[in-house]
Amino acid sequence: MPTALIIGASRGIGHELARQYRADGWRVIATARKQPDLDELAQLGAEPVALNVTNPESIAGLGWKLDDESIDAAWLVAGLYGPRHDGFPTQDEFDAVMHTNVLAAMRLLPIVAPLVAVRRGKLGVLSSRMGSIGGRGHGNASLYRASKAALNSVLRDTALAFGPHGATCIAFHPGWVQTDMGGSAADIPVDQSVRDLRATLAKAQPDANGTFLDHDGTPIPW
Ligand code: NDP
Repeated sequence: MPTALIIGASRGIGHELARQYRADGWRVIATARKQPDLDELAQLGAEPVALNVTNPESIAGLGWKLDDESIDAAWLVAGLYGPRHDGFPTQDEFDAVMHTNVLAAMRLLPIVAPLVAVRRGKLGVLSSRMGSIGGRGHGNASLYRASKAALNSVLRDTALAFGPHGATCIAFHPGWVQTDMGGSAADIPVDQSVRDLRATLAKAQPDANGTFLDHDGTPIPW
């Protein structure tokens, strides 16, 4: 039975990834940071693991739990949009967004990518088109944009390190998705975005390692 790991599965895109992989008969290891969400994931048939991605001990605990695992499809989903005001971010806002979107990836991907490489599997990271520098047409939400640009850099480093060992590592834009983060005005229902993301990851070949793709597989400029 193929195994999926979803990091940040309490709601939104991560929860829908867990739901769809389970519905397709996959074994699913899914993380959340709150007990009611872990209970709900267990009811879905997933194997819940408590994880706060901004807590190094919690990340170390995940590492121990995954020690003997090998994974076919891993998704790093947990993310924070941060301030929606137009002014400069405060230090606290900066720290929270960069910790969640960048430092957590620096700590988690070296744990997860080797487990993916063992199965010549795939690793998807939820970035955002807003992190694209080359394709940028707006300058709003500069902290979120900077964090996703930095996340893309972390993904490229991960691809360079683990691609040669068999992991295909991809940064994804999921579309503008109807979740708590995307809001109700967003143009893609979460189930559609996740179907696309799963299909694009599933058909990705090793030459897609280190790329930045839209949910339908269209390349996005870094
Ligand atoms: P939501 O805001 O709906 O969900 C965010 C998820 O991240 C929740 O599961 C949340 O857990 C988790 N999370 C945040 N901080 C932590 C933490 N410290 N530890 C553990 N989990 C944490 O977001 P979406 O589902 O919309 O987005 C998922 C990803 O896709 C994000 O990385 C986002 O940046 C990206 N994205 C989304 C877009 C959209 O339109 N929705 C567009 C482009 C990119 P909890 O419930 O515990 O808070």
